[in-house]
Amino acid sequence: MNSLFSDHVAALQPYVPGEQARLPNLLKLNTNENPWGPSLRVLEAMRAAISDDLRLYPDHQALGLRRAIARRHDMDVDQVFVGNGSDEILAHVFSAFFLRSGRPLWLPDISYGFYPTWCRLYGVPAHPMALADDFSVQVADYVREVEVEPCGILLANPNAPTGLALGLDDIARIAAARPDSTVVIDEAYVDFGAESAASLIADFRNLLVVHTLSKSRSLAGLRVGYALGQPDLIAGLVRIKDSFNSYPLDRVALAGAQAAIEDEAWFERTCQALIAAREQLALDLQALGFECLPSKANFIFAFHPHHRAADIAAGLRDQGILVRHFSTPRIDRFLRITVGTPEQCARLCKALGVVLAR
Ligand SMILES: *Cc1c(COP(=O)(O)O)cnc(C)c1O
Repeated sequence: MNSLFSDHVAALQPYVPGEQARLPNLLKLNTNENPWGPSLRVLEAMRAAISDDLRLYPDHQALGLRRAIARRHDMDVDQVFVGNGSDEILAHVFSAFFLRSGRPLWLPDISYGFYPTWCRLYGVPAHPMALADDFSVQVADYVREVEVEPCGILLANPNAPTGLALGLDDIARIAAARPDSTVVIDEAYVDFGAESAASLIADFRNLLVVHTLSKSRSLAGLRVGYALGQPDLIAGLVRIKDSFNSYPLDRVALAGAQAAIEDEAWFERTCQALIAAREQLALDLQALGFECLPSKANFIFAFHPHHRAADIAAGLRDQGILVRHFSTPRIDRFLRITVGTPEQCARLCKALGVVLAR
């Protein structure tokens, strides 16, 4: 390491995002991007925002966007926080809620790979909680009495990379059992068939729900996410944001994100199409011999009993198709396959037929 670096840099373990390869005739099913693309109203709104007004700073309170989000979730505007992708919001969450005298953060042993990266960046002790053998969250572990209360609990729901969803009763039980911990539910994939914990926010002052426009609104390239919570919890995030970057969203992103939230029809239609494609893909993978976890997300976590996951991924890559393989204990026999359009899923299954026949 360069001797000019700050003391903590050597110990960081930066997150490695899925590959953005440049292959001919590439089919990217490795980073859970949405194949249907954003609403045309989003593109129009962004074009309109590209004007001489770009010499002016954007609204640091993002009021237009936050009002649209508040309307959609039937909340007040002071219950909504927006950020440059939900990844940025989650980083602010660590800074705002999880730095509490070395108290541990509870999180599943298998979940979004960025969580341990932030634990290292912020020096938050991670306390991994084992998922059951079927990869479900063992709720009893989260509600039992302990000597040291966690600073927080961080759950992706549906979980990544399993796609399994936790019910609202279980989330309410956890939030009720841990009133002195911030319970953060990362709902990046919730719109593909799970239930949002946003409806529990009125009951729990310690509950924060995080959403992204990257997946169900098909705007991974725009970098917009939001968080919902009671106003005094949101105020903590605002204090961090205004100590870090007052203008995380530019004028063009604000306009596009607001149009995306307001175009309910496009959102509903593309989510339903994605869910239908997912259910068909699960059947087709099973017909090829795969075992699939029941997914409520826009990807399927599957393994083949007779083929190594890394070999399948390499074989698909030879045919220009990328899927995600994690060489992590407990899940290294699985592939995480993003759901594409029906045509893309058919191409995938055809290629899998070739790879598995080798
Ligand atoms: C994709 C994803 C995110 C990141 O979303 P961005 O808004 O694109 O930063 C956060 N959490 C989970 C679980 C994700 O899968």
